[in-house]
Amino acid sequence: MNKSKKSKISSPAYAGISKQAGEEKGSGFDLAITGGRVIDPETKMDRIADVFVRNGVIKKIEKSKGKPKAKEIINAQGKIVVPGLIDMHTHLREPGREDEETIYTGSCAAVAGGFTSICCMPNTQPPIDNQEAVKFVYQKAKDAKCKIYCVGCITKGQKGEELTEIYDLVRSGVVAISDDGLPVVNPQVLRNALEYSRMFSLPVISHCEDLNLSAKGVMHEGFVSTILGMCGIPSLAEETIVARDVALAEFTKARIHIAHVSTQGSVDLIRQAKKKGIKVTCEATPHHFTLTHEIIKTFDTNAKVNPPLRTKKDVEAIKKGLSDGTIDCIATDHAPHSIEEKEVEFDSAPFGMVGLETALGLVITELINKKVLSWTQAIAKLTTNPARILNLKGGRIKKNSPADITVIDPKASWTVDPSKFLSKSKNFPFGGTKLQGKVFCTIVDGKVVYQG
Ligand SMILES: [Zn+2]
Repeated sequence: MNKSKKSKISSPAYAGISKQAGEEKGSGFDLAITGGRVIDPETKMDRIADVFVRNGVIKKIEKSKGKPKAKEIINAQGKIVVPGLIDMHTHLREPGREDEETIYTGSCAAVAGGFTSICCMPNTQPPIDNQEAVKFVYQKAKDAKCKIYCVGCITKGQKGEELTEIYDLVRSGVVAISDDGLPVVNPQVLRNALEYSRMFSLPVISHCEDLNLSAKGVMHEGFVSTILGMCGIPSLAEETIVARDVALAEFTKARIHIAHVSTQGSVDLIRQAKKKGIKVTCEATPHHFTLTHEIIKTFDTNAKVNPPLRTKKDVEAIKKGLSDGTIDCIATDHAPHSIEEKEVEFDSAPFGMVGLETALGLVITELINKKVLSWTQAIAKLTTNPARILNLKGGRIKKNSPADITVIDPKASWTVDPSKFLSKSKNFPFGGTKLQGKVFCTIVDGKVVYQG
């Protein structure tokens, strides 16, 4: 068979399946991913093997003796084959701001970034706080390139006052609840949410920010904000709420997940809480383990995020937290904004940057290649761990699991060009950055949905 040196996907290279093709008589495989280094954090697999798929399900993982047989073959020699990445923190802007992103365009960006599942946050316009709104998302998700999981609001209209009908939300398929974008200010309301959610084993995702402390801040409060004369957001604004939420989780024995951890103090608090056996998990974003507040000196509004980019000490603490297991997940907090909205004075620009298409490259370049995390550790934070926290089926390469698979070219280097993003929005401050490691192809339910 003619396999080109570029080892592109050859379809249907081995068409015409013979009876011997499959294990069972008369049933061949639809897809074989051959010769790659297969990493599955759950089963601790890390070896060269072929992965065989039939009817959208992983059927066999083993090194074939002769030529592997399947309708479609992906030659993954020199590539790394991992469970499809899961982003547990994505903003898709639909309904309400379809000019910035839609469920469909967000899914295109996701698969280009190697994500086969993304969880959309409910702070849309209007917020996803009732069954009908969840149904709308799942209806739209039918056309998406990847799997979309919906997160519902904790409180009606994200006003922080009245709880949503959590049971209704669960029945319509939300995987978590969150008022992300805003904290739940009233601790009694969050306590009630935790007590209800415990009944359904539903994680509550907390955006930790004391609004009185963050006030009118636009960047991290510290040396750089002082010299720039900008209003700062102190680390304390995050840490006081992390401490409160950990205490509430301990008291209610419920599960809490802290979104986008950004400070050394937060990492320390979560580390201590975990030691005490409190059911707390957390995530960090690629920008928080990569960039510091120094970048704000460029006045690039694309670097204006919430929580803000912090100090070098905080970045080091996030990396430490990732490597010692305090930080369970890497999530993008993909937050699309239009150019018109971002091309204003720093003070008036909205918070957020896109991240779906660069997360993997940043993880490989900044964490794996710099020996902060091993491949298995890094992939666990993008697959197994979010799947476990959200009770999702994916996130593993295992017999009879859904064939959601990402094939990575670890050697490919590329330069980030936001104008080429498939996301509708291009608000990203790392344009021109050189990254190593790229998506070779993304497979959802056994179908190749993206080729790099
Ligand atoms: Zn948030």
